Amino acid sequence: MSKWVYSFGAGHNEGRADMRNLLGGKGANLAEMASIGLPVPPGFTITTELCTEFYKNNRHYPEDLDGQVRAALARIEEAVGRKFGDAHRPLLVSVRSGARVSMPGMMDTVLNLGLNDETVLGLAKSSGDERFAWDSYRRFIQMFGSVVLGVDHHRFEEIIESVKMDAGVVEDTALSPAHWKRVVEEYKEMVEQEIAKPFPQAPGDQLWAAIGAVFGSWMNPRANTYRRLHDIPADWGTAVNVQAMVFGNIGNDCATGVFFTRDPSTGENMFYGEFLVNAQGEDVVAGIRTPQPLSKSAAKAGEVSMEDALPEAYAELCRVRETLERHYHDMQDIEFTVQQNKLYMLQTRTGKRTAAASLRIAVDMAQSELITRKEAIMRVNAQSLDQLLHPTLDPKAKRTLFSKGLPASPGAASGAVVFSADDAEMRAAKGDAVILVRIETSPEDIHGMHAARGILTTRGGMTSHAAVVARGMGRACVAGAGGISVDYGARTLSAGGKTIRGGEIITIDGATGEIFVGAVATVEPTMSGDFATLMGWADEVRRMKVRTNAETPLDAETARKFGAEGIGLCRTEHMFFAPERIGAVRQMIMANDEHGRRAALEKLLPFQRRDFVDLFRIMAGLPVTIRLLDPPLHEFLPHGEQEIADVAEALGQDVESMRRRAAELAEANPMLGHRGCRLGISYPEIYEMQTRAIVEGALEIAAETGEPVVPEIMIPLVGTRRELEITRTQVDRVAREVLEKAGKTLEYTVGTMIELPRAALTADRIAEVADFFSFGTNDLTQTTFGLSRDDAGKFLPHYVEAGILPKDPFVSLDIEGVGALVRIATEKGRATRPGIKLGICGEHGGDPASIAFCEEVGLDYVSCSPYRVPVARLAAAQAAIGAASDRTA
Ligand code: ADP
Ligand code: MG
Ligand code: MG
Repeated sequence: MSKWVYSFGAGHNEGRADMRNLLGGKGANLAEMASIGLPVPPGFTITTELCTEFYKNNRHYPEDLDGQVRAALARIEEAVGRKFGDAHRPLLVSVRSGARVSMPGMMDTVLNLGLNDETVLGLAKSSGDERFAWDSYRRFIQMFGSVVLGVDHHRFEEIIESVKMDAGVVEDTALSPAHWKRVVEEYKEMVEQEIAKPFPQAPGDQLWAAIGAVFGSWMNPRANTYRRLHDIPADWGTAVNVQAMVFGNIGNDCATGVFFTRDPSTGENMFYGEFLVNAQGEDVVAGIRTPQPLSKSAAKAGEVSMEDALPEAYAELCRVRETLERHYHDMQDIEFTVQQNKLYMLQTRTGKRTAAASLRIAVDMAQSELITRKEAIMRVNAQSLDQLLHPTLDPKAKRTLFSKGLPASPGAASGAVVFSADDAEMRAAKGDAVILVRIETSPEDIHGMHAARGILTTRGGMTSHAAVVARGMGRACVAGAGGISVDYGARTLSAGGKTIRGGEIITIDGATGEIFVGAVATVEPTMSGDFATLMGWADEVRRMKVRTNAETPLDAETARKFGAEGIGLCRTEHMFFAPERIGAVRQMIMANDEHGRRAALEKLLPFQRRDFVDLFRIMAGLPVTIRLLDPPLHEFLPHGEQEIADVAEALGQDVESMRRRAAELAEANPMLGHRGCRLGISYPEIYEMQTRAIVEGALEIAAETGEPVVPEIMIPLVGTRRELEITRTQVDRVAREVLEKAGKTLEYTVGTMIELPRAALTADRIAEVADFFSFGTNDLTQTTFGLSRDDAGKFLPHYVEAGILPKDPFVSLDIEGVGALVRIATEKGRATRPGIKLGICGEHGGDPASIAFCEEVGLDYVSCSPYRVPVARLAAAQAAIGAASDRTA
């Protein structure tokens, strides 16, 4: 006999937090909270395994389920002293779905299950509150009707509206018991019409129908789509939680609320939440009434805090907040209900937060010794640091305020106004920055929220769908801007007599909640104290160095500010395109002979040397890897008549012969053509000039700063040992000449990119003549897959979407294939030259998953674009901690 049902609460806890795979997140944490003595209404969880079993058996339950559910239900009945279906003291329950990870698409919760025409009378009597009983019954019919029976929820709302209109009231709470009775009658009639049978009265039928609906929702189209997009296997299944009801709607000593144990936007250590007196379930987030703050200190004029309204329950809530953080060692997102001044906990989970909050919480918790520094490092998603490095509004910039809402997710964003998720996606695909403007958002809008720079809603609070999702995605969001009215039909938003049309630009500031007309200038972020603190901790534990890919002084300086420890890739050809140089470059490649080329290179030498001097000054004392000329000459060919004429004139040749030369140089497949070291071998004078510029530049900076850089001269696209041997001999000769002439010494090394499979496979031979390897994983990915990055757009997105490839291999290293080559080259390189320096300089050097792989194979450094340096520093630290715990595990 299998165990399908696990009880919790009332001193009988069969689950624990670490059983979330079996019990789902909600069920596991309910059991955990109950077991540490928090007030959790008793209940039971039907396991995810049952869900899987149900689908395996053609949607049939195993025979022993019924008995287990009965036994668990009996335990609840005993604990609360009420009986399911009893006419006098009926037990009511909620039926809640809960997968391992919280997942949109799953069935919504049904509350007050167990009510019918008879038990509602018992509830009225036993509670002494008729209004409450009928209000609960109508809520039940409404939830069960829409969620389990599939009746459109508008049908219910219409009925309430018409009753309110007749009664002449605005707020639901103003309706009398008789009104609610009428609502119930009309609901039942309407449902009977819709489903062609009466609303189910037997509590047992209600329960099994609700349980069946939860399991059924696991395979509905929305859930399937979500799972596909998030790589969630179908056989994880969902759990079902059945739990005794507690009531926040019996009167003014009752309430329901939600809170985060810290501010999820900023991470500040404060009570962050909302509550509503005399309300049930999701009333707080549904926007029917305006929720009130929890603490007195957070209450604005006219607001009544929970601290004032329900002081006892508030004090209890403060204790719970502490207990939960101490227990879970993390910020929690909590649901609670107060029934007649007594607090009940209904859910806890690790709270979603912005990158800024995540950083602050991790640092605060480590400083107050709730977690270790290493845990703090592991807590912050390295990728998300990117968000902190994004711009905010320039305080000095001119701006025209349009309106104001709630600061729901920080960051500033400007863009064209769009009113639908589809529009947002479409315009963003064309490269436009857009702001998605909605009255409120729902899970159907996710793709548009993702495509937008920012999200603006006119309804909903800090815990509304828009706010929560935007924070998770790192999008700027202003929510609940009630002063704005949105007209989807006319495609306008207006506030204070001003109207903005779809397509016009607005700017939102998610940190203040302000909305501005037009674009407002932004400024670069400053690294906060917490940022520096965490980075410092990361630097203490990481083993790999982090360098940057940079050619310009600006990039190099930015990277230094972000903590780069040298340059891992300086692409010299980028320096060739500047307008004052391109002419000389063209002369060089169009020249028919060495003499012509040398004359042109003479002109380039001072420019090139100046470039290196500028870079070396910024990187004084650090290693700088300079890649000699790599791209096919093709890329520098003159285009158009004027350019050809200019080059002809400079070389003293006629235009016709220039055209012929250009045609000669054109290649069918330039990326596999005359490029990299092949050029250095055909035209040794190019690498000679570059070597001279590097060595002379390094000497100049050594003299100027006393801190020489260590140039690492890198030969690109080497496939054989001989290619490197030839080119390195030239480099060494020129370097020797320069140094002898200057009467100086300089430490420098010569090595190669590993970017061709042949180089990786023969790395032992190549290492005989290489001081270092740098994995050029962009080209290595292209050459391993036989796939041109420039043409991949036609099919690669489809490959990723259809799961043919797990990820875009240009973004995250293909560990299985390209990684295998890296591994081979690493091993073979070290076999020949044990101390050989190894690094990576492809795009992957800034990708956390790829960085973890680099740690595993033991590279010495990663190199990435300047803005990703902090990401790489943290990811390298996390990889080092991960690798250490793998060894001890
Ligand atoms: P979700 O996963 O959408 O948050 P939940 O199952 O947590 O759905 O429940 C929806 C709402 O109903 C929440 O506000 C929750 O606190 C409330 N709720 C759930 N079960 C009970 C119960 N037994 N008594 C009172 N309120 C409940
Ligand atoms: Mg919930
Ligand atoms: Mg390359």
